[in-house]
Amino acid sequence: MSFSPIPKYSFPSLRGITPDFLKGHGIRLLLLDLDNTMAPYGTELPPESIAIWARDIKKSGIDLFIITNNNGSKRVESLAEAFDVGYIMSAKKPFATGIKRALKQLGRQPSETALAGDQIYTDVIAANSAGVLSIVVEPLKLRNPLLNLRYWLEAPFRALCRNKMR
Ligand SMILES: [Mg+2]
Repeated sequence: MSFSPIPKYSFPSLRGITPDFLKGHGIRLLLLDLDNTMAPYGTELPPESIAIWARDIKKSGIDLFIITNNNGSKRVESLAEAFDVGYIMSAKKPFATGIKRALKQLGRQPSETALAGDQIYTDVIAANSAGVLSIVVEPLKLRNPLLNLRYWLEAPFRALCRNKMR
């Protein structure tokens, strides 16, 4: 357990994370950030490619669960429903509280859990703090200057990731 901002793995997209990769690391539960990881900000429907990826992961026997700081309940609800996965809102990442709540709810240990998200300062720090495998993905869309700035500020930590996957 640590407060490290350095992700254990980095992938260009969720779509690169395969059942084989997860199983190879003993992962049975994959926690997912929602905004800009599973769906761009503001969208109510999942991108088709991510929906297909999620179906394949679930079919392989690995559970998916959304951990989002977002508290705009209706959009979160409709996206979670479309993906057919459970969720926790107002998760307070970078704190580990939301992750710990999810593990308790789902009866899983940190050692069999990973979290994938697009942000270093929330997702990766929360995952490392909770002792689950941290995976950073590229944001789906950087549509405003603030998101661009944040991405730029995160760049050193993305660069320090030792396991960059294609
Ligand atoms: Mg995000």
